[in-house]
Amino acid sequence: MYSLKKCRFCEKPAIVRLEYANLRLCEEHFKQYYVNRIKRILEKHRIRGKLLVAVSGGKDSMSLLHALSQLNDIDMEITAFHIDLGIFDYSKKSREVVREFAKQIGVVLIIYDLKREIGFTVPELAQAGRRPPCAVCGIVKRWVLNKVAYENGFDFIATGHNIDDVSTIFLKALLTQDIYTIIRAQSEFSPSKMDIKLVGRIRPQYYLSEMENRLYVELNGIPVVEEQCPLSMGATIHKYRTVWDTLLKINPVSQINLVRSILKLRKGIPIEEQRLLPCKKCGYPTESKTGICAFCRLIEKAKKTLGK
Ligand code: SF4
Ligand code: ZN
Ligand code: ZN
Repeated sequence: MYSLKKCRFCEKPAIVRLEYANLRLCEEHFKQYYVNRIKRILEKHRIRGKLLVAVSGGKDSMSLLHALSQLNDIDMEITAFHIDLGIFDYSKKSREVVREFAKQIGVVLIIYDLKREIGFTVPELAQAGRRPPCAVCGIVKRWVLNKVAYENGFDFIATGHNIDDVSTIFLKALLTQDIYTIIRAQSEFSPSKMDIKLVGRIRPQYYLSEMENRLYVELNGIPVVEEQCPLSMGATIHKYRTVWDTLLKINPVSQINLVRSILKLRKGIPIEEQRLLPCKKCGYPTESKTGICAFCRLIEKAKKTLGK
């Protein structure tokens, strides 16, 4: 459909039209544009030094790892980090895909095997805690990432997100009066607070769409785990996502605008700074009033229930 139209920057035919930016690009200029968007976020937040890149094997994190490995003019050293969550064949496949890809592009990879390190897999923790697997998985990933980054002297953690996910989290929060999420949900950058063992986070794809990540993966021949995590079934957030098909047709910038509006509004609200204290068990920061972090509570419960 776009083959008749030229790229904005050269004579080649455009392979993609980015509606939100009113931009048609050829293959080479799309790749350049994509890597530059990532670079600009890193520069904006002065990301330097040792960067731990969380890689699940999905298209977001694999495209992120590839794009970061292309940025030779930023003074940073990247290490890929994969958590084997113990989710049956899905985890085995993911681990292999990440291992092969890291080798292929020459990036050092750390694999953290949850069962071996803490004694439980995500399905076991979810069963023991009687909580939705994704909620448990989120707590585990946050804790493990921060701990590994802190203990190994990393300056920042980079994670793969996309605007489709971020905007849907905010949309759902607005429609369900989830004020906590509106106020606290992650923006593109959270600074380090090393005095309380909290390593800063950068989310370089915060304003890039799933379609752009997928296209980048395809154009670069990056291998990804295509199958869905078997535990993701039924998460209500997926139902909210479908409304974007309509909204983006009406206004291609609607996702970006929703997120920017909320982040701007936040600045005007007098929000109390999160009171983070070291967990009495693990020493990593928590805002829990009990003084025990959500991760340690999960482990305690699993030990009682599963008797380990
Ligand atoms: Fe974890 Fe849920 Fe993602 Fe599966 S879908 S990896 S359980 S967060
Ligand atoms: Zn071009
Ligand atoms: Zn703890």
